[in-house]
Amino acid sequence: MDNNVLNGLFFQMKINLNYNVDIVGDYDLIVAGGGPAGVAAAVAAARKGVKTLIIERYGFLGGATTNNGVNIFMPVKRPCPFYREVVKKLKELNAIDDRHFDPEVMKIVMEEMARDAGADIVLHSWIFDVVNKKGNSVCGVVTLSKGGMSVYTSRCVIDATGDGDVAAFSGEEFTVGRNGDGKTQPMTLMATLFSTDRVHKTSLSDSSIAYKEFVETPIGKNLSSENRFGCLLVNMTRIAGNGIDPKELTRAEIEGRRQLAGVIDLFKRNGYLKYHLAFSGPFVGVRETRLVKGMYTLTAEDLTAGIDFEDGITWCDYVMDIHNPNGSKGTKIQHVKPYTVPYRCMLPRKNGGLLITGRAISTTHEAISSVRIIPQCYGLGEAAGYAAVLARECGWDFRKVDVKRIRAWMEIDN
Ligand SMILES: Cc1cc2nc3c(=O)[nH]c(=O)nc-3n(C[C@H](O)[C@H](O)[C@H](O)COP(=O)(O)OP(=O)(O)OC[C@H]3O[C@@H](n4cnc5c(N)ncnc54)[C@H](O)[C@@H]3O)c2cc1C
Repeated sequence: MDNNVLNGLFFQMKINLNYNVDIVGDYDLIVAGGGPAGVAAAVAAARKGVKTLIIERYGFLGGATTNNGVNIFMPVKRPCPFYREVVKKLKELNAIDDRHFDPEVMKIVMEEMARDAGADIVLHSWIFDVVNKKGNSVCGVVTLSKGGMSVYTSRCVIDATGDGDVAAFSGEEFTVGRNGDGKTQPMTLMATLFSTDRVHKTSLSDSSIAYKEFVETPIGKNLSSENRFGCLLVNMTRIAGNGIDPKELTRAEIEGRRQLAGVIDLFKRNGYLKYHLAFSGPFVGVRETRLVKGMYTLTAEDLTAGIDFEDGITWCDYVMDIHNPNGSKGTKIQHVKPYTVPYRCMLPRKNGGLLITGRAISTTHEAISSVRIIPQCYGLGEAAGYAAVLARECGWDFRKVDVKRIRAWMEIDN
């Protein structure tokens, strides 16, 4: 009995034994996850007539740009068309300075772009399984919500969950972490402090950690930035662990708050008495989890050599930037030359109807530390959406698309 049959059987067993599951929607393309890569993919595909649905577990789109307090675009030299459009819209709404953006406005921009493109959106829905058909092709996903279980079917799926969830559920192989011990970059509970007109004195609780100086904090320095909206963004907690294990995520949230209270106390003792914690990241930020094995695996050597691959679909030039996987001080920075990410890094090895985009594509632990920043994830997503447009012409098989046409749309040679 092959894996497909088994998957099918398990799927039927779940339904027959316990639940009534309705097929609640049928689409050309399902985009799993509404983060930077997912929204870019959905917009690119829907604008060119692909009937598209974005499925998102939370109540808003934007992924890490709206759900964990990451409100800064890292700089890039050759931004993709979608990123340029997002920046233009944020500027029109007076919601961005040189690189800090307002996350609440970002939520609206993401929704408007998706809806104007013609994509449907379903929020508050966790994807927890896939529907396979013969030939190992994913043809839908199963979600869990307050309404119970639902099935959405499609001709193809783009996995933009950041964690490679759909790929893992459909039997694709993946790696996690660095060679040797499998450790990933640490998680971080971000914080946003607002500048106010009065002094706010707070005390540390028993479980908080007291830091005497910035060098004692988990990151070992003052990593914060102030924007023109009167916010101080603080990126100074570090928690090592597995960002797809709920027990470790729970530990990370609790430990993150313990560290954060100490960090804020330290800021107050260093002149920030009128700043007040508006919110910690709605949940802990996860930098790195599954990397789905694709038809090519991008390496650190490719980045330092600055290769423009024949099937390169978006430009990147951000440094390799590895926060210490042990969760303690130190960040390893290695410079790169501008390079393109091969389309093959998004193509998984088994499923022709599945494409991976965003921070779970096929790279090494070192290479993803450069690829994963927001502007570049927009580029990966946009290219994945164009791939769906072309897959429509070849039996919804992502392996058969003409990558030169994606390169032209992505303005790679301009
Ligand atoms: C602490 C931290 C600081 C960072 N700082 C910066 C920075 O300053 N500048 C910068 O440019 N980049 C920064 N990054 C990197 C960047 O934010 C992410 O790498 C990038 O957002 C990844 O985009 P993505 O679309 O691949 O995934 P994500 O942003 O993670 O989006 C994935 C989306 O899929 C949804 N999803 C996941 N699983 C499911 C499921 N099973 N069912 C339904 N929906 C699902 C999620 O809710 C989310 O909306 C930082 C990241 C972290 C964690």
